[in-house]
Amino acid sequence: MPGQLFVISAPSGTGKSTVAMAVRQRIPGLGYSISHTTRKPRGNERSGIDYHFVDDETFTKMIDEGDFVEWAKVYDNFYGTSSSGLQDLTASGLDVLMDVDIQGGRNIKKRFPDSVLIFLLPPSLEELERRLRKRGTDDESVIEARMEMAADDIKNCVWYDYIIVNDKLEKAIDEVQSIIVSERRLTERQLPGIRKLFDV
Ligand code: ADP
Ligand code: 5GP
Repeated sequence: MPGQLFVISAPSGTGKSTVAMAVRQRIPGLGYSISHTTRKPRGNERSGIDYHFVDDETFTKMIDEGDFVEWAKVYDNFYGTSSSGLQDLTASGLDVLMDVDIQGGRNIKKRFPDSVLIFLLPPSLEELERRLRKRGTDDESVIEARMEMAADDIKNCVWYDYIIVNDKLEKAIDEVQSIIVSERRLTERQLPGIRKLFDV
């Protein structure tokens, strides 16, 4: 069977990258879709590992050539999931974790109705602001813009399949892991493999 898509979204600063990275290290056979972005690398981020960092011209050309499964403008930059990158992962049967914003979540669900959408919430808006400051990668105006968007972003959790509150990091990682493992154990997903072993 082709791999299952798992989408994780959250207001910036909630801990999505931290949780996604830990889940990837814990779950065998979980591919990660590396997005393209026009944003500049932060801190230790490397092209081809965290993102494919590209310029505006390259990104626009990829849009024109239909290279993206989905793309969106988030804050002031463009982000997109390339069709070929995703196909390479799913065609080999790998389940794939995608870190995309809410527009991306909506577009992925529309295109792949079987995808599983997980929304990560901060314990409070005050704690979200503390985490944005603690991360130390954004200046004051960026933090203010992200906090302004957070309350609206959070409204979208209602149409996600799962909601996890990232209060204690280890608990949030465990919970994302449980969702992925449970979805993998669904009867309908397992039957093709089981039928190779037993007459059911
Ligand atoms: P996002 O990818 O959602 O923008 P990050 O993963 O960059 O967020 O996390 C933002 C900051 O919050 C980082 O400094 C990270 O170490 C911290 N963080 C993540 N989860 C927790 C948590 N459960 N408790 C406290 N701090 C956290
Ligand atoms: P950051 O700049 O903090 O890494 O990401 C900003 C936002 O862009 C996050 O909400 C992240 O989920 C989102 N994002 C990252 N990659 C993609 C993508 O390929 N598509 C979409 N739609 N959003 C993305």
